[in-house]
Amino acid sequence: MVTVSCDVCKKKIDNPITDRTLFYYDKHLVCESCKDSFEFNIRTDVRAVNPFIMDRYRKLMRDSLDKAVQKGRA
Ligand SMILES: [Zn+2]
Repeated sequence: MVTVSCDVCKKKIDNPITDRTLFYYDKHLVCESCKDSFEFNIRTDVRAVNPFIMDRYRKLMRDSLDKAVQKGRA
């Protein structure tokens, strides 16, 4: 069995299922709770711009992720 862990919180992900319990952002692998935190963190920024722009959203997500990996938490 393959063991995977979140790049941010370093927790082991039980029963890893892509897009259900683990998510890939560029080269990083993120657990569900960290993903939820990211989405919460960038929500205000995302809503500030109308209409919704996917590229901008992806960039926010990526910047937020890079910071979180450095800090070790979302
Ligand atoms: Zn995590």
